Amino acid sequence: MSRMSGPDNLSKLERLRARDGDHCWLCGLPIDFKAEPNSAKAWSIEHLLSKCHGGPEKLENLTLCHPPCNRSLANRSLVKKVEMREKRRRKAWLASIRGQINKVLGA
Ligand SMILES: [Zn+2]
Repeated sequence: MSRMSGPDNLSKLERLRARDGDHCWLCGLPIDFKAEPNSAKAWSIEHLLSKCHGGPEKLENLTLCHPPCNRSLANRSLVKKVEMREKRRRKAWLASIRGQINKVLGA
């Protein structure tokens, strides 16, 4: 088990940020890289295919998530995780549309 702030994870973090940007894989909201480790907006490394399902430590299997988002993904199957992601994104999208409509209507 690698530690959250070890040098190994830090180089992984840099590479994941370069590849994926600074947003959480699950909720799509920005990650605050200066936040207290393990706090709600901080970063954590998510194994898309969980370690307990044989998911490798390779970059292709890793992505960045908020710690609470990471915990809610837990050891679910990859299919389930993608479903959760779609659901959250749809919710966020609907909320933004609703906000826009309210603006148009002056509500
Ligand atoms: Zn998140």
